[in-house]
Amino acid sequence: MERELAWNKYKNKQIKEMESLCKDYREFLDKGKTERECVTETIKIIEKAGYKNLETIISKKQKLKTGDKVYAVCMGKAIAMFNIGKKDIEEGINILGAHIDSPRIDIKQNPLYEDSDFAYLDTHYYGGIKKYQWVAIPLAIHGVVAKKDGSVVNIVIGEDEKDPVVSITDLLIHLSSEQMTKTASKVIEGEQLDILIGSKPLAGEEKDAVKKNILKLIKDKYDIEEEDFLSAELEVVPAGPARDAGMDSSMIMGYGQDDRVCAYTSLVAMLEVDKPEKTTCCLLVDKEEIGSVGATGMQSKFFENTVAEIIDRIDKYKELTLRRCLTNSRMLSSDVSAAYDPTFASAFEKKNAAFFGKGMVFNKFTGRGGKSGSNDANAEYMATIRKIMDDEKVLFQTAELGKVDIGGGGTIAYILSLYGMEVIDCGVAVLNMHAPWEITSKADIYETKNGYAAFLKRA
Ligand code: MN
Ligand code: MN
Repeated sequence: MERELAWNKYKNKQIKEMESLCKDYREFLDKGKTERECVTETIKIIEKAGYKNLETIISKKQKLKTGDKVYAVCMGKAIAMFNIGKKDIEEGINILGAHIDSPRIDIKQNPLYEDSDFAYLDTHYYGGIKKYQWVAIPLAIHGVVAKKDGSVVNIVIGEDEKDPVVSITDLLIHLSSEQMTKTASKVIEGEQLDILIGSKPLAGEEKDAVKKNILKLIKDKYDIEEEDFLSAELEVVPAGPARDAGMDSSMIMGYGQDDRVCAYTSLVAMLEVDKPEKTTCCLLVDKEEIGSVGATGMQSKFFENTVAEIIDRIDKYKELTLRRCLTNSRMLSSDVSAAYDPTFASAFEKKNAAFFGKGMVFNKFTGRGGKSGSNDANAEYMATIRKIMDDEKVLFQTAELGKVDIGGGGTIAYILSLYGMEVIDCGVAVLNMHAPWEITSKADIYETKNGYAAFLKRA
């Protein structure tokens, strides 16, 4: 049952492919720090590869045939792309699903205030974070401000070298004797996560002069009024690019690798597998970190509606064709796994943990406290997957998320399995999951991309 270290089998060719994939991946991480940015970036990449917007196909009453490539977008935050295969769509779709939202700190709707000649933005964090990890580091603001006239202003502050960054302050150690006695969940509390954004007063103003100066700045630069915050989605994320990590550059450290490491490798595999037998699909969704809710999360009808439209473009929509297609589909529900960390060995059960460099991770089940909330993949499906990976020489390992009684987690797998399709959880192992900077192994990224491609070809 001992799994091999991927590095030991690589020749020059694999190292080259791996490095080139990881370089492009780092770029994707830098350009896509929000779900919206990830969708924009994905559209750029797939349009170059010949993908067409399904809306255009529908409005022009065009038909779809084998070899056609289309995509559909939901509110700029989720995207589904399809490569129409040779087989009847009723025989099912091979689906790669991942999420493109990541834990972060969102700006509240009425955020701007001044205190003691500092200007702040008040926030509400998104997803599961250790709040104390987000203070005293450089942060950037990404997002959109939608105005009443219908225009949408894109905002990125803190990524360009010449840009200023923002931050959340922490208490100096010299005055922290009381703070240091608190439990980690209380060391920094939600309402303390306010973003420091200014300290200079507007000339000639007496009351709230620093806040007024900030308002003047955003008016001059973006033509935004304070009330426009009411219809804004501004996300605060760690500032700066993803980097190679380790003196041997064997790893990548970057923000938002949960789950963009699976999203990007799925996307690359999707483009790599041309002329598939069955129709293939790469589905990148939003809101996984807060329960897959809303129109752009996996629980929405977006995916099902899109498949219905595709069936209608191939032939004519029939409810039964849609039902059969979804039931006969197979899915890799891709999300990051907890990498075994020797520093915190007691949280893991070593026989069933994911290790860096040992390849793509499969989780037959996830969930917590007795598999609750899990999708538990069928043994028969797991056997099919094992065969595909072995035949295509993809290195893989199987794992659980830590010790049985310690923790757990969920993914989008259980939602798709409701159609009666075969679904299994898989992905890339990550160190520091949900921290501002997460770490992955380049070898695992490469193996996982190859695993996705093998699945699309063979499942
Ligand atoms: Mn995830
Ligand atoms: Mn997560």
